[in-house]
Amino acid sequence: MARLRRALLAWYRRERRDLPWRRTDDPYRIWLSETMLQQTRVDTVIPYYERFLERFPSVDALACADEQDVLKEWAGLGYYARARNLKRAAEQIVRDHGSRVPSEASALEGLPGVGRYTSGAVRSIAFGEHAPIVDGNVKRVLARLTAEAELGDAENWDLAEALVPPSRPRGRPDQFNQALMELGATVCTPRSPRCTDCPVRSLCRAAERGTPEAFPRPARRASPREVEALGAIVSRRGRLLLTRRPSKGMLGGLWEVPCVGGDSLSGLVAEIERRTGLRTRDPRPVGSVRHAFTHRALTLRVVSLQPEPGRLRRASRDAARFCSSAEVADLPLSVLMRKTLALAGR
Ligand code: SF4
Repeated sequence: MARLRRALLAWYRRERRDLPWRRTDDPYRIWLSETMLQQTRVDTVIPYYERFLERFPSVDALACADEQDVLKEWAGLGYYARARNLKRAAEQIVRDHGSRVPSEASALEGLPGVGRYTSGAVRSIAFGEHAPIVDGNVKRVLARLTAEAELGDAENWDLAEALVPPSRPRGRPDQFNQALMELGATVCTPRSPRCTDCPVRSLCRAAERGTPEAFPRPARRASPREVEALGAIVSRRGRLLLTRRPSKGMLGGLWEVPCVGGDSLSGLVAEIERRTGLRTRDPRPVGSVRHAFTHRALTLRVVSLQPEPGRLRRASRDAARFCSSAEVADLPLSVLMRKTLALAGR
């Protein structure tokens, strides 16, 4: 254990990538980076992280922000529940913790969207606490170090907890946890791990057996389910009709052209009328867009529809509006919607 810690920490000091969230021990920034990094690549996260902090530099700024503005800064990063939870958690921190990100596990894990991983990352990296973290990279490194093909969740957490050094100043749990993740991200990669460059090569059972890639056993992945949807380009005097998705659920709170699941044109026309009070006619094909979500492969067929004279229902103003190009640019839109608007030449 001591050799492993020493070797990893020395390697990390030498080799670590210079990433923006490694230049701070501000718990808010570390919490934000760890939230953005879930399911998302480092290169993708960096510009989002920097823009988000320019706009919302503190817990207070985030708590006071309009959710639509938060979603707009998040737009394109995916998994939008993360952004909504961050905002709600910031409100809770202001209300219950005097605007300071708490350092106790129970308080952190009581915040929306904060589970054991994020809590462990914030506690160890920002506060120097003895707290383990287990993510995909850590799981892979642990499986290879132990040559265990299928470590369960509890075993992974127990192992990570045994490995992480004591709290600062006695140990460097912050550096150690980041080193373990960095090793998984840059050296002990899923395919073709660079064992010859690895600082813990002499302690690794999978490398000793000569079969590092056999660990962990690959999870059986179901192929994504094919789904269809139908969307409408409805414009009036150059302004495009957009509707807002309900706050909860997939892509919650984001704006989109009116859509329905399946491919029923009459269903789409009825849905537009139900949501906005607007009648539409003269469908014309525009094209289709493919988009991959985690468990779904979506084909969105797009048609144009002509709106009949008449106003949008007043009550629907917050959930549907005709937008100029500048207004569209100012709303939170998913990557799927950006593709759809590009297809329609908007
Ligand atoms: S020796 Fe190879 S398999 Fe073992 S931890 Fe290092 S990179 Fe991973």
